[in-house]
Amino acid sequence: MRPIKNIHGDKAPHWVGDGFYVKTLINHLDDNPHFNYSHTDPFLLFDYGKPTTFDPNPNYKTQPHGVGQHPHKGFETVTIAYEGEISHADSVGGQGIIQKGDVQWMTAGRGIMHEEFHSEAFGQRGGVFSMVQLWVNLPSAHKLTDPNYQSIKRADLPIVELIDSSNPNHQTTIIGKAAIIAGAWQEIRGAANTFTPINLWDIELHTAGATTLKVPNTHNTLLLVQEGELLVNGTSVSAGNLIQFDAPTQHRTDGQAQQTLATDNIELHYPATENGKQAPVKLLLLSGEPIGEPVAGYGPFVMNTQEELRQTFRDYQTGNFVK
Ligand code: MN
Repeated sequence: MRPIKNIHGDKAPHWVGDGFYVKTLINHLDDNPHFNYSHTDPFLLFDYGKPTTFDPNPNYKTQPHGVGQHPHKGFETVTIAYEGEISHADSVGGQGIIQKGDVQWMTAGRGIMHEEFHSEAFGQRGGVFSMVQLWVNLPSAHKLTDPNYQSIKRADLPIVELIDSSNPNHQTTIIGKAAIIAGAWQEIRGAANTFTPINLWDIELHTAGATTLKVPNTHNTLLLVQEGELLVNGTSVSAGNLIQFDAPTQHRTDGQAQQTLATDNIELHYPATENGKQAPVKLLLLSGEPIGEPVAGYGPFVMNTQEELRQTFRDYQTGNFVK
């Protein structure tokens, strides 16, 4: 079993633009002595937007809620819409609407400008909005890769059924499912292309029971409880908390195939309620092989050295950022 190291949840929410009300649950710039980025590498930042109700916006055409044109360089942003819809447009012609359950995997690489707003349909009608945005680092060999945009629809995600392991007599009871956004669940491959080995699994439990997640023993590992409450390795965790597990004890050696790696267990126990009504539990599992390189980041840019970071700001200020 991979023990729990930390639970990140007790953070004050803040607005990103006027459309996204988020808690930054981890940030590679965190100077808290209990936080060490090498234990979440390659995951730089994790913003969680809990379900928040927005009124209809009658001024959508002129004042949509969200964030206007802004740059990114040196990493990838991964956006998941849990409730509501996000519209996106970028400087390399990528555009689309991230609808409920969809995932946008945007590679900023050598530089991109983009905007992120509530979609027009959602803005006009209002309602509950909830999302996650994750920043994934790029290794130096791919930091200046071409910007790219993967639009991944919920219907395109492979689904794995989760079988109850709590009772040997109920080995066929399905208690939930996992949608494989990235990485692999045994032989099932996720929908997203990644530059380094990463698992991103969107998990839902609907029936009381227990099940085990298996993550490579070389990966840094995090688990968001997005909705509901359950026991993770015997510890009760509720919605809005991001569990950080102990650092891996093994490191992949050069050339060793990902498939040959051993796994660590994460035990999920979803207790039955007294009245028999189960509020669903929704989880997001993140695991990734540490890149293990120096990080120099500030604002929307994440490079390897301070000089690369200064040059990026100079390029941006002199109009040489996106050519
Ligand atoms: Mn952005």
